[in-house]
Amino acid sequence: MKNKSSNNRKIVSIGQIAGWLAVFVVLILFFNTSGTKETTLDYSAFKQKVATAEVADLTVAPSIISGMYKNDKGQFVPFKTVRMEDPNLVQELSAAKITYKAEQDRSWIGNILFNVLWIVLLIGLWWFIFIRPQRSDGKSAMNFARSKAKMQDPSKQTVTFKDVAGCEEAKEELEDVIKFLKNPKKFQKLGGKLPKGVLLYGAPGTGKTLLAKAVAGEAGVAFFSASASEFVEMFVGVGAARVRDLFEQAKKNSPAIIFIDELDAVGRRRFAGIGGGHDEREQTLNQLLIELDGFESKQGIILMASTNRPDVLDPALIRPGRFDRHISVPAPDLKGREEILKVHAKKVKLAPEVDLKIVAKGTPGFVGADLANVVNEAAILAARADKEAVTSVDLDEAVERVLAGPQKKSRIISKHEQHVIAAHEVGHTVVARLTNHSDPVHKVTIIPRGQALGYTLQLPLEDKFLTSKSELLDKLCILLAGRAAEEIVFGEITSGASDDLNKTMAYARKMVVELGMSEKLGPIALPNGDDGEVFLGRDLSRHKTYSEELARTIDEEILNLIRTSYARAKDIIISHRVAFDKLVETLLQKEVVEASEIDEILGLKPAVVENQPAIKPAENEHTPKEEPKAPKATRPEAQQAGLFD
Ligand code: ADP
Ligand code: ZN
Repeated sequence: MKNKSSNNRKIVSIGQIAGWLAVFVVLILFFNTSGTKETTLDYSAFKQKVATAEVADLTVAPSIISGMYKNDKGQFVPFKTVRMEDPNLVQELSAAKITYKAEQDRSWIGNILFNVLWIVLLIGLWWFIFIRPQRSDGKSAMNFARSKAKMQDPSKQTVTFKDVAGCEEAKEELEDVIKFLKNPKKFQKLGGKLPKGVLLYGAPGTGKTLLAKAVAGEAGVAFFSASASEFVEMFVGVGAARVRDLFEQAKKNSPAIIFIDELDAVGRRRFAGIGGGHDEREQTLNQLLIELDGFESKQGIILMASTNRPDVLDPALIRPGRFDRHISVPAPDLKGREEILKVHAKKVKLAPEVDLKIVAKGTPGFVGADLANVVNEAAILAARADKEAVTSVDLDEAVERVLAGPQKKSRIISKHEQHVIAAHEVGHTVVARLTNHSDPVHKVTIIPRGQALGYTLQLPLEDKFLTSKSELLDKLCILLAGRAAEEIVFGEITSGASDDLNKTMAYARKMVVELGMSEKLGPIALPNGDDGEVFLGRDLSRHKTYSEELARTIDEEILNLIRTSYARAKDIIISHRVAFDKLVETLLQKEVVEASEIDEILGLKPAVVENQPAIKPAENEHTPKEEPKAPKATRPEAQQAGLFD
């Protein structure tokens, strides 16, 4: 979404060019038709042609004579000439046996009409090209300065706090706002500090919009919502006008909540980035600041906004008196997930055997939107199978669907490829099972799903907030085990490990650069861009904060980590080769091998796992436990589950 505004601009500027081209073409046509391709002859030249009878089909009007004349090449082509006082003309024409007819001049009214027609046509064209695209949402033509905000009537407000689960702290903090909206005057009398702007921050899908709606629902006030990206439009000034309009509408309907989604789309720090300012965005932001300063909370309006990037917001926006209440809406924990599942499960019929706690256990890293999705998918699956109620099998499948897309039973894979995939997966499985600091392996499969040709499923025992170095080292080892297995079994490596390799690199880099886990470098953390991603623009604008030498050591340490982990993965596989081969064999036969059988083949006692969920949990195979972080845009990594493609 964040790119939407800039995309719009591009499209629009192309549209504009096309528009002007069209206008240009029409203008040319206009001038061409009003003086068609006829040649203008001097009257004397015309008279000569009459004398030699080289004209024909004349139309004689009071001021113009037009018709055909014979040119130098002997062809008859159209001409016209301005008529002069020439009383003998008709006689001469008759004498030369030239056909002619008389006509009246086009009346002045006709002339005006003719011109007006063209002007109307031009305006029509202009409207069609420039104005019409503005109203793709069905609003009237000149209305684009109006806010596109949607208003929800308080009487139709159905969302309340009951519908939002798993964010009790945020709800508690919002109680004040509700109290205030319910009775602004009383709140003031009691000396409550008036809230004005509330910023909800957290990953996408954690329920920020839902919370804002619920606040309106609880307080019984009107709810205006707009997405900040809608403000940033093609014309400079439109965004500002829309902001103004939004506040006006809200004031008319106060008490009310104005909710702005994706605040960072307009609220980014000004003067950031190479390109310098962005006029439209800046004007919009300024207008927003003006409105924020301009309204008194007494008016019974609360501004709420959501963002997943509070770190990039312009400091002016979050100053006291503006968005000065910051409320975190984090991804839910185990209990929160269960609560959220319960909320959504109310809308479907669950089989009695279903235990939502188990589903919650199997979905670490899922946010509210994902969980809503899980319940929905499960209901669809149950309906498709003509079931009476949603069973745990449906929920189970739904979790995997949300993670990895639908199972693709029909994808045809050759015998050899299947063998390669099986070896690759078993590599992951064996190493995951035989390293001490990794999550228990739950199953391994070579049934393709989504982009993945197969996957190993690991199940974390609990939500974790800290990750140790040993765990990360094991993780690197597991990630590289697929490639290692291919090399050991076939002496040939495939492209199947590319995803693994990317992740390995990311983890190794993080360990060295951010987590201070390299021995050579010690406990250092280096600035690593806004969100861990490197993209050219920002990297150029950022000056290097460390030396070439340090950079080289970093690279060495990363390579070191990866190389040792790869060697370790190979060692583990080679020293368990017999069991490894047997597991590959079994996997090829059965396509799915569950934990107990894996342990049996590896000759291990079943893993000591308490409260192991009865159904299979989230695919959390190659993902780190979330490290506690400042709120960031990235979704919990558990969701980009380890897929082997
Ligand atoms: P955000 O604004 O944080 O991106 P939304 O509020 O748009 O997330 O959430 C999208 C949907 O996900 C909601 O409409 C709701 O169905 C579901 N959802 C998200 N969080 C929760 C929650 N905490 N409790 C219940 N449902 C949730
Ligand atoms: Zn792999």
